[in-house]
Amino acid sequence: MADASLMVWIDQDLCTGDGICEEIAPDVFQARDDGLWVVKESAEHWGTEIVFDGNQAADGSRGVARVHDSQLEAVVEAAEECPGECIMIEPFDQEIFTKRGA
Ligand code: SF4
Repeated sequence: MADASLMVWIDQDLCTGDGICEEIAPDVFQARDDGLWVVKESAEHWGTEIVFDGNQAADGSRGVARVHDSQLEAVVEAAEECPGECIMIEPFDQEIFTKRGA
C-alpha cells in the first residue's frame, strides 16, 4: 500500500531553472545537469531513489513521481510558488505504479 495520494511531474519546457521547488521540497525536486529541475522519489521515503531525469527514468509528463504523504504540503507550496507554473500535481493513480512494478 503506497503512502501517497498525489503524484507530481515537471514540464521542463516551462521550467525557468530558479530552483525554488528544491528549496521548498528538497526530497522531491532536484537540479539536472542542463539547469532544469526534475522530480524524484527519495530513498528515505520509497526505499530506492528514482530520479525522473530522462536518464534513470523518463522526464516530463512520463516522469511521474509518487508524493509521499509527508511531502504533500511542501509539494503543493512548491507548485504554488513555481514561476514557470510547470509543477503538475495529479491524484494518485495506482495503475501507473503497478505497471512500473512499484
Ligand atoms: S520552481 Fe518551477 S520553474 Fe523553478 S526550478 Fe522548480 S520547476 Fe523549474
